[in-house]
Amino acid sequence: MVPVNTPLFKGNEKKYLNECIDSGWISSEGPFVKRFEKEMAIYVNRKYATACSSGTAALDIAVSMLNLQKDDEVIMPSFTIISCAQALVKQGVRPVLIDSDLKTFNMKVEDIESKITLKTKAIMIVHIFGLTVDIDPILELAKKYKLKVIEDAAQVLGQEYKERKCGSFGDISIFSFYPNKQITTGEGGMILTDNEDLDQRAKSFRNLCFTKDRFIHNELGYNYRMTNMQAALGVAQLEKIDEIIEKKRWVGRSYNKLLNDINAISLPTVKTDYCENIYWVYTIVIKDSYKKNAKEIINELEKFKIGTRPFFYPMHKQPVFNEMGLFLKNVLPNSEKLYKKGFYIPSGLAITHNQIEEVSENLHKIFT
Ligand SMILES: *Cc1c(COP(=O)(O)O)cnc(C)c1O
Repeated sequence: MVPVNTPLFKGNEKKYLNECIDSGWISSEGPFVKRFEKEMAIYVNRKYATACSSGTAALDIAVSMLNLQKDDEVIMPSFTIISCAQALVKQGVRPVLIDSDLKTFNMKVEDIESKITLKTKAIMIVHIFGLTVDIDPILELAKKYKLKVIEDAAQVLGQEYKERKCGSFGDISIFSFYPNKQITTGEGGMILTDNEDLDQRAKSFRNLCFTKDRFIHNELGYNYRMTNMQAALGVAQLEKIDEIIEKKRWVGRSYNKLLNDINAISLPTVKTDYCENIYWVYTIVIKDSYKKNAKEIINELEKFKIGTRPFFYPMHKQPVFNEMGLFLKNVLPNSEKLYKKGFYIPSGLAITHNQIEEVSENLHKIFT
């Protein structure tokens, strides 16, 4: 079996975890939490960071931080994980969806301006699979229309847009540390900002909006705290970030070489004008000329014991949102096509050259 993802622990993970056990500091009050926040802020070049329990939690907090009102609108891509849209919907805010660019899988920046209305309060950008969104035009729109920017950088820790780190562009930027992300804490997330007031709000929402008079609350928050044990893993993992990025790019280059003779598929875009692929996952899109869809290929690969994942199911097709009457008239064909034709193959950090060859051989068997 070649699993779709296997995490890699090659540094101080055990040592730091032992420190938690030996010292008795296991909750969110332990010292690794502040240390992880500080080191993430330095790495991404932000002033403030707030560790939390997941990327989904980070998005819930990010939306809460903006004080949005019912029926306000936030522009975001349709092709993403549900965490982005549900953070808005659960708070009564309306997501306005943008279709995807077929080459980068990111939202079509040129489609955004026509969707801005008087109710639009923010743009949520989500970097997808390893290439960044084209950020500069979005920042210009945000300035022109006085909109906030939430940047979901969960898939691209270490990636750069025009030589500046992803996670440094949003008024609020977030990361996830789920085991398939560049660094993992088992479960975990982070909220980053340069604005002190926003940072205070992040830390308040993370911790039930306690006030100085403990047990007196002026707002409703969450218990989305990160434990000291998770942060210990995070600190150890972040020490290895350069190696991790190098390994991701090595996996990408290896597959590029081995798979480029298969005519039925499109391989990931290697680079754009503003970034070089970091291959968070290695994506394959089946060309229109080939009769089968991703689902059939995924099943065939499963028979060969190769782990895969399908692409995102677009937000405008989600039954849960359609039943609320949301997105019923949306026509976003590229995101639908990506779902039908796309999937990703084993590309976790513990993958070996032999496993990459095994995956490639099986793809050749299926497609030729
Ligand atoms: C993984 C991911 C999330 C959610 O993170 P969790 O830690 O799994 O809750 C959010 N956004 C994007 C783009 C992701 O890839």
